[in-house]
Amino acid sequence: MSAVEAETSGNTTDALSQRARDLDAADPLADYRNLFVGTDTDLSYLDGNSLGRPLKRTVTDISSFIQDSWGGRLIRGWDEEWLELPQAIGDQLGRAVLGAAPGQTVIADSTTVVLYKLIRAALAAVTDPARTEIVLDTDNFPTDRYLVEGIAREEGLTLRWIDADPASGVSVDQVRAAAGPATAVVVLSHVAYRSGFLADLPAITAAVHDAGALMVWDLCHSAGSVEIALDDADVDFAAGCTYKYLNGGPGSPAFAYVNTRHLGGLRQPIWGWMGRKDAFEMGPGYEAAPGVRGFLSGTPAIFGMLAMRGTLDLIEEVGMAAVRKKSRLLTAFALELYEAWLAPAGVQLSTPRDPELRGSHVTIDHPAFREMTATLWGQDVIPDFRAPQGIRIGLSPLSTSFSELYRGVAAIRELLGGPESGATPLPGAAGGFDNIGDVPLN
Ligand SMILES: *Cc1c(COP(=O)(O)O)cnc(C)c1O
Repeated sequence: MSAVEAETSGNTTDALSQRARDLDAADPLADYRNLFVGTDTDLSYLDGNSLGRPLKRTVTDISSFIQDSWGGRLIRGWDEEWLELPQAIGDQLGRAVLGAAPGQTVIADSTTVVLYKLIRAALAAVTDPARTEIVLDTDNFPTDRYLVEGIAREEGLTLRWIDADPASGVSVDQVRAAAGPATAVVVLSHVAYRSGFLADLPAITAAVHDAGALMVWDLCHSAGSVEIALDDADVDFAAGCTYKYLNGGPGSPAFAYVNTRHLGGLRQPIWGWMGRKDAFEMGPGYEAAPGVRGFLSGTPAIFGMLAMRGTLDLIEEVGMAAVRKKSRLLTAFALELYEAWLAPAGVQLSTPRDPELRGSHVTIDHPAFREMTATLWGQDVIPDFRAPQGIRIGLSPLSTSFSELYRGVAAIRELLGGPESGATPLPGAAGGFDNIGDVPLN
């Protein structure tokens, strides 16, 4: 490379590294990152959208729970607090994250099981025999697609697939075209797990209602990363994960939202004792508990609920607007680094450039990424890989710094063989590394 090229790219690197430091310095949420376990190392964690980091507070919360509550109160704990946690934490989640008034949200099961229960409950509410179709999209998360396929088989229904663009997602027009007099229920993800595309939840919900159908949203990648207003949008049902942006820990239980409108008399299909009226009477026959409690089935998973409470408290303190603002700055900086370093090396962007149209992760594609991900993990740079050739850079707003993001993308550039890496560039990876991204920060 020429001296001029080397100097230009060196300047770019300096400028971008300074920019990361400036963004951290200007970040009103920067100090919150110190509240998370492991943030005092150089590890670059870019996968908080898949498994969030634990809060330091969780260590004490869980250990005092074991010592005092479980160990001390033993079985009495169920009567004193634990039995009410699914609703208590559900209400807090509704308030802090979902834009949901109390009494509509519970914590239970896994997202897969909650979605099953909600979709079956929604179908049971559809009385028009002409409505025989469930609308879903080809790029939804596998579990969503599989379980809708299973439900369709169980219920003798037809699937109507929306062909979603894997680099963006499902549009309002596509939903309008797919949903009609034959539609019973529409199931979609708010933020696409692959591209990070942020669907227009209010407009799509309204379009589904116009078609006379019911809407079930999967909020796994939006709960805790983007602002959500379920009540305002008059959403029918929603489900989501708590181990992603809500940091409930591996396998922490999911949440279910059921609009008050549907709470009188709707039936979910898994009749367990915890969803029964007067569970401890253990009487004959199932009679659903009133309200959203009837959406419970079995014994609640207390550990995961206690773990997520720390993050819910934090979100209530700072507000989702501030979380979303930082998320937009983080994804915009990821795009800036991409433009400067990765686009010239032949990496494709598979996330919308418009910040209004994306959640809190950025997906980039390159044939070298499958192998590269293992190398990155070995270097303590942790994004995740999504077949066939995508790296997802997940940016959990409360626990990720701009410098951490900088280090991670710098490692990717290094492995791609950028001009300062000393490595042999991959075929097609050479190019001008001098164009600082002109992506506006939003
Ligand atoms: C992560 C995720 C799930 C996970 O479901 P589990 O039952 O917790 O395994 C489901 N749907 C979407 C869209 C997801 O992103």
